[in-house]
Amino acid sequence: MILSWLLLLSCNKTEYKNEKSGIAISFDDHFINEWYTLRPLLQKYNAKVTFFITCSDSLTLDEITKLKQLRKDGHEIGFHGTIHGKSTEMIDAFGPQKYAETELLPGLKYMSDAGFYPTSYAHPGGNHNDQVDSVLLANGFKILRDVAVSRQILFGIPLYTLAPRIMNRIYYDFNNEQKVDALLIDQDSGVTENEIQDAVVKAKNTNTALMIFGHKPLYTKPGNGEYGFNVSFLETILKEAKKQNLKFYTMTELTEH
Ligand SMILES: [Zn+2]
Repeated sequence: MILSWLLLLSCNKTEYKNEKSGIAISFDDHFINEWYTLRPLLQKYNAKVTFFITCSDSLTLDEITKLKQLRKDGHEIGFHGTIHGKSTEMIDAFGPQKYAETELLPGLKYMSDAGFYPTSYAHPGGNHNDQVDSVLLANGFKILRDVAVSRQILFGIPLYTLAPRIMNRIYYDFNNEQKVDALLIDQDSGVTENEIQDAVVKAKNTNTALMIFGHKPLYTKPGNGEYGFNVSFLETILKEAKKQNLKFYTMTELTEH
C-alpha cells in the first residue's frame, strides 16, 4: 500500500518535471504544394508545425486554400518576408521605416487580404540584427526565429561540427524569449539520425522544446538548385518525438506556455 503510494508520487513528479517538453518544427519559403503533401504524415503523429511564408504576393487561390486547410489542421502560418531580402543591409541602407515598407508591410498586406495574420517571423537567410528585431517586434511579431547549423563548411573544409544536443540555443526553455534559433535539418545540414534522436531525448530530459526547421520536402537527393529535408528523416524525428511523448508546439505557442 505504502509502496504503491510512493510509486504514484514519483510518477506524478516525473510527469510534472517533463510536462512542457516538446518540439517546434517549422518550414520556410514557399513550398506550399509540397508541404501540403505532408498532411497525412503530420496527422499520423498528431504533429503541429509552423509554415513561414515568403513572397506572399504570388500566393495563388489554390495555395491560399491549402494554407487555410493547414491552419485548420492546427498548424501555424508565419511570415518570412515580402522579398526574402538581407534585412541588415536594407536597414543600413534605407533605415527602419523603408525596411518595414519594403520587407514587411507589403507581404503582410497580401497575407491579411488572404485571411492570415502572422504572429511569428523567420529571418530570411538567418540575417538580422537588434535594429531589425526591434522593427519586427514593433510590428507585432511575438517570436523571431533565426537559423542554427551544427556543421559549418567553408570551401569544402569543415570549420566545426557540433552535436545538436549540446547546442543550448536550439532549446526553448519557456522563459518568454522572443528571439530564438532553430536547427537546420535540410539534407545539406549533415545532421544524422542519431544526432537528432539524442537532441529529441535532451528536450525530454530538460523539459524544453527542441526547435528545428527545413525547407522543401524531398524524397530523393536534392536536384540542381533544390534544397530541403528528407521526408523519411522528418518521420524519424516525429517517431522519436512520439516515443518520448513530446508536445508539438507551433512557434507562437512557445511564447504562450
Ligand atoms: Zn528562406
